[in-house]
Amino acid sequence: MLTVDTVRALRTMVERARTENKKIGLVATMGNLHEGHIALVHVASQRVDFVVASIFVNPLQFGPSEDLASYPRTPEADREKLLNAGCDLLFTPAVEQIYPDGMLSQSIVSVPKVSEGLCGAARPGHFDGMATVVNKLLNIVQPDVAVFGEKDYQQLAVIRSMVRDLNMATNIVAAPTIRATDGLALSSRNGYLSKRERSVAPILYACLREMAASIQDEQRVDERQLNECRQRIITAGFQLEYLEVRNAQDLSPVTNNNAQFVILVAARIGKTRLIDNLTVDLRLEG
Ligand code: AMP
Repeated sequence: MLTVDTVRALRTMVERARTENKKIGLVATMGNLHEGHIALVHVASQRVDFVVASIFVNPLQFGPSEDLASYPRTPEADREKLLNAGCDLLFTPAVEQIYPDGMLSQSIVSVPKVSEGLCGAARPGHFDGMATVVNKLLNIVQPDVAVFGEKDYQQLAVIRSMVRDLNMATNIVAAPTIRATDGLALSSRNGYLSKRERSVAPILYACLREMAASIQDEQRVDERQLNECRQRIITAGFQLEYLEVRNAQDLSPVTNNNAQFVILVAARIGKTRLIDNLTVDLRLEG
């Protein structure tokens, strides 16, 4: 596995793979890799011949009071994990490679509707920053396939919308969320949790499961139970940003004839912000 840190070197290597008739895949990350990220590499490997992973902590998607400076950076361990996973090329650009004229004079990709509300409301500018960098990475690598985790459900919806709206040629593939044995979704931010916070964190997934079972049983959203779950999360010590049930396809509010639901949660405990989600498809479970 080669590591390159310039756009030019990246393009040369991808070009070479293409002349060998290889299909190209991209897994975009911010590093501090865990099993969730590695699962994306495996999904990509099943679909393409040449897997590119990128590690770039994108300043454009962090708000002024967010954890850009303290975001965990573990380049050596990441490299080792990608090598073992069979990744072919690692792209680790510096900020200047991605934003050569600075972030203020950067064209911005803004995706309407799906990026509004939920995390979009709590993190103003986040999805613009994320969509912009994903757009750049897709243009730099021009992969046949790019794999993103369902863990970041709204992010995936924003990327799908962007790719459709802008007629981008990459096939976007979703990979399931990888969890710890107690249900907590793996996240680079889990490392911020104290021992006590880590011990209560699985309540988020427990509430998602409870709501999913209830939707399956009742074929509708039980608002009373949703409120009970919200209260339980708060009582456990979280500041709840949202626990919502939405239409799984476009994140719009649920209607009476909804068949595909997604339950989404975002909550802070101490200095850590956690998100998770679970889908329910009544067409499959009925
Ligand atoms: P990040 O490094 O957090 O920006 O995430 C990079 C990619 O990994 C995104 O597509 C995430 O959705 C995905 N990802 C993060 N955590 C998980 C997880 N626990 N399971 C599956 N995919 C994940």
